[in-house]
Amino acid sequence: MQAFICVTCGTQFPPAGAPPARCPICEDERQFVPPAGQGWTTQEKLAITHVNGWHQYEPGIIGIATQPRFAIGQRAILLRTAHGNVLWDCISMLDAATVTLVKALGGVQAMAISHPHFYTTMNEWAEAFDVPVHVHADDREWVMRPGPRIKHWEGETLRLSPDVTVIRGGGHFTGSSMLHWSGGAGGRGVVCSSDTVYVAADRKHVTFMRSYPNLLPLPAPRVEAIAAALAPFDFDMMFGNFFDSVIETGAKQAFGRSVERYLAAIAPEKR
Ligand SMILES: [Zn+2]
Ligand SMILES: [Zn+2]
Repeated sequence: MQAFICVTCGTQFPPAGAPPARCPICEDERQFVPPAGQGWTTQEKLAITHVNGWHQYEPGIIGIATQPRFAIGQRAILLRTAHGNVLWDCISMLDAATVTLVKALGGVQAMAISHPHFYTTMNEWAEAFDVPVHVHADDREWVMRPGPRIKHWEGETLRLSPDVTVIRGGGHFTGSSMLHWSGGAGGRGVVCSSDTVYVAADRKHVTFMRSYPNLLPLPAPRVEAIAAALAPFDFDMMFGNFFDSVIETGAKQAFGRSVERYLAAIAPEKR
């Protein structure tokens, strides 16, 4: 019995004697099945060809992503807060080196995940670090491998610690969430936005999509809802979902400008 991992999206399925017939996350219109067909791997196979790479944005913020790029290219972030370490989002590969290094940094006190494209091998990470993993209840149907560590939270915000809050923005998925750390970036405030708010190539703007690979835009009311969800929170730094998707400073202003730019771009054309 092996817990197979989809090579296109990185999602792990319950242990079985053979790979699943299909991956519902990839078959959803927000992801895709490659033209050459679906492929499967396992933690053991991944460890032969891949390693996890680390990027320190600053001493309290460390990104972790598998190298060479695997699945969607997801990047998790370890936030070293005054109230404990928070692991935001998750990646498929969890090797012995990663467990050793994260434990040496103080382990993990809480895990939370933005949306199904980052569920990956969340059960194994939560088990390795002996923590609950918080995912929004509105995306419950997309949990391919249920487990006792998964906590489904409901509503609009979840307080993880005195200065860390998970915020449901919706849009990309109904339960799509972001993380706000008020003490991050030297007290300037950090938002980890994942796919709810996508950091654009110039790192001075953001954008929004129902599907990034299939280029399906997000309707205006959904974008306005994300803006309303973030409005009460101060932040200066914003992280998307890859190593290089970060707005180093001025992120709240960049977000405001980008919401206006996006809504103008999808507005009906004036004749
Ligand atoms: Zn998949
Ligand atoms: Zn996504």
